[in-house]
Amino acid sequence: MNDNTSTIQIINLGYLTDTTWPGHLSNIDRQIDIAGIQVQLNEYYVPVGSHAKTRCIDGRHDPELDEGNLGPQVPGGAPGAALAYRLGVDKDDLTRGTFYNDAEIMIESYVRLGLAPGGHRDNHEHDADVVGCGAIDGIELILERMIDPKLVEDHKRLVKTLLGTSFNRDQYLRVLGAGLVLRSRSTDYFAGRGDILNLLEEKAPKSVSVLEGHHQEGLVVVNFVPNTTLTSNRFARDHQNVQAFGYDIWRSRQLAQTLFPLPSQAVDREQFITARVMLTIATLMTLTDGSLPLLVRIEDKGLEFREDATNLVR
Ligand SMILES: [Zn+2]
Ligand SMILES: [Zn+2]
Repeated sequence: MNDNTSTIQIINLGYLTDTTWPGHLSNIDRQIDIAGIQVQLNEYYVPVGSHAKTRCIDGRHDPELDEGNLGPQVPGGAPGAALAYRLGVDKDDLTRGTFYNDAEIMIESYVRLGLAPGGHRDNHEHDADVVGCGAIDGIELILERMIDPKLVEDHKRLVKTLLGTSFNRDQYLRVLGAGLVLRSRSTDYFAGRGDILNLLEEKAPKSVSVLEGHHQEGLVVVNFVPNTTLTSNRFARDHQNVQAFGYDIWRSRQLAQTLFPLPSQAVDREQFITARVMLTIATLMTLTDGSLPLLVRIEDKGLEFREDATNLVR
């Protein structure tokens, strides 16, 4: 598939933001050799295992990880896609439904479509309703950040950068609007989200990982190259435990294509991807202060993406 790695490029898009985001994770006092990482990063990408469970973007160590059989990384793993579905696609009344039920539908869809779901906890002591995955535990806050008027321009800039020519302003605004409506009843909608990983374990045995230690993510990598993913344990081990948030954006496209395969579902497909990317940026706004460098890994199929990026990242 991607055996000619010479066509793959790692591009540094600079820091996530020039302002300060509300999250805690910061890179400000860290001396990261981003130029060195950029040169070597491609060596840390491998083909995904075809039946390997979906992983979170979380960069922490997974002691059980089989680095010869890695699943793709998306925020919150498989249940994380549920909110994108609710905001971007679902034709139901936004005043009904719960995140728990949406996650259940998403996990069932994964299983039905032959995709291996996955998610994670961590090994800390937490309150009973906290699972240890920032993308699940912080989901209410992530929704807040996504619709925060103070962050929206920065948010839109990054979403445009990642979606390139497929960015559609109307779709962007539609997802924001759905977010506003859902936020008005977020206590009800998100009730019971702490049970989602039990549900995942039940529907897909052994699909829940337990990550160790503390967050030490020092960069964000968005990977566009289909069917490849980051060897997260090896990357951190070789970089003095500097971890990377790895987002396999190709997987969101693939999932959209698999969930909505018909020509008549083109709009659902695009809106699902838009909502997923919007929530990913909002997740980074919730977890970090925006001081982490953002790298993209893409196949060099011409200048299209780079022209977009240079125009938009100002
Ligand atoms: Zn924790
Ligand atoms: Zn997570």
